[in-house]
Amino acid sequence: MKTRADKVKAQPAPFLEKVAGFMPVARGSLALVRKACGKPGCRACKSGRKHPAWLFVYREGGKQKSRHVPAQCAPLMKLAIENGRKLEQAICAEGLAYLDSLVAEAAR
Ligand SMILES: [Zn+2]
Repeated sequence: MKTRADKVKAQPAPFLEKVAGFMPVARGSLALVRKACGKPGCRACKSGRKHPAWLFVYREGGKQKSRHVPAQCAPLMKLAIENGRKLEQAICAEGLAYLDSLVAEAAR
């Protein structure tokens, strides 16, 4: 016999199908910064221009962290971050749809 809780469980397959395309996935942001290279006599560093560098900025355990991203990897990290935002939006929509189903079930 099915309980009320069984009946109102979310249907996992449609959601998983919806989010299956959101790979690769990452949560965070990309930042373009300028860093010193540390080479003695570097004109770019001496002038203050320094060198462009990409950072992946993310949170872990409530703390903001960052990791260097090689320039050639930045476009793919950007795509993964966009997928992460789409996944978060899909989770939010799924939660609201689930709440709607719970409320509808409770009203019966
Ligand atoms: Zn330099």
